Amino acid sequence: MKLSLYPYRLEFKFPFKIAHGTRTGTDVVFVKIEHKNHVGWGEATLPPYLPETQTSVIDFCTQFAREYANHGLHDWVAGLSNVQTNMSAKAALDMALWNLKANLEGKSIAGLLGIAFTEFPLSTYTIGVSGFEEMQQKIAEATALGFRIFKLKLNGEKDEEVIRNFKKLSSAQFAVDVNQGWKTVEETLANIKWLKKEGCILVEQPLPKDMLAEMRDVKRKSTLPVYADESCQRLSDIGKLRDCFHGINIKLMKCGGITEAYQMILRARANGLKVLIGCMSESTIGCATAAQLTPMADFADLDGPFLIKNDPFDGIEIRQGQIKLKALRQKINIPPQPLL
Ligand code: MG
Repeated sequence: MKLSLYPYRLEFKFPFKIAHGTRTGTDVVFVKIEHKNHVGWGEATLPPYLPETQTSVIDFCTQFAREYANHGLHDWVAGLSNVQTNMSAKAALDMALWNLKANLEGKSIAGLLGIAFTEFPLSTYTIGVSGFEEMQQKIAEATALGFRIFKLKLNGEKDEEVIRNFKKLSSAQFAVDVNQGWKTVEETLANIKWLKKEGCILVEQPLPKDMLAEMRDVKRKSTLPVYADESCQRLSDIGKLRDCFHGINIKLMKCGGITEAYQMILRARANGLKVLIGCMSESTIGCATAAQLTPMADFADLDGPFLIKNDPFDGIEIRQGQIKLKALRQKINIPPQPLL
């Protein structure tokens, strides 16, 4: 088992505005694990609102590899399953191990999990808070890429303008992601009523993540499905969300990889919740890996690679709004970080 680490910065095609601020790119660390002439790639994506950094991911992965230096694949998987911190670093290692295992066995990750790899859900293209012309450019770009459905970021400030602009530019279906930007049950219900009339199909994280008592009220009265994102990080969160949301947004960076994400889908289903598989501006590595779970999901939001202008990998595309996976190919070589 040989581990290599590749710190890199993904640059966005368009600066990305959400409720947390504006960004031009995202730091990542790519993880490669090699074993018996096979390779598995993983990715830790590190948006600035999360606590992990390239340095912390490199430290964590280096220490993990040192601890398991003389162990095989089974022990790496077992050792990682006990990790409860550094979720992005964990996700990168977990992804790399799943991809390695799939390659060793000549299967897909979906195949290893027994997921029928037939129908993929529609994947949304996210439009950060943007003015009319920028939105026009983004819709044109997304439509040319094959997207058929959009996710509009709202922040409670210019929501009506965003929706008005979008409706002038497109008749496509859309969801909204409020990123905790609304303040009260009354505001949320009034906005949902209005958005339903405008043709919105789903509302993500309307209220601050800990306002679960208020969300219970919203769920009872809402005419649109409401999904948890910031309120739902891990498997252990799901039980308390069943009466507050209609669905959850599962991301590998939040829950530490495919292993827990798969368990989260099962638990969400057992609790009557719908499932969206999302991403945090990952490249092709993160999104193509997460896509393996999407035949079990109601929606996908795996647009990361399509928002980036320097993705080092190729392997995912959108046709008729649905994800299609291709053989993974590295387009840009990145110098490895020497292990500490
Ligand atoms: Mg979200």
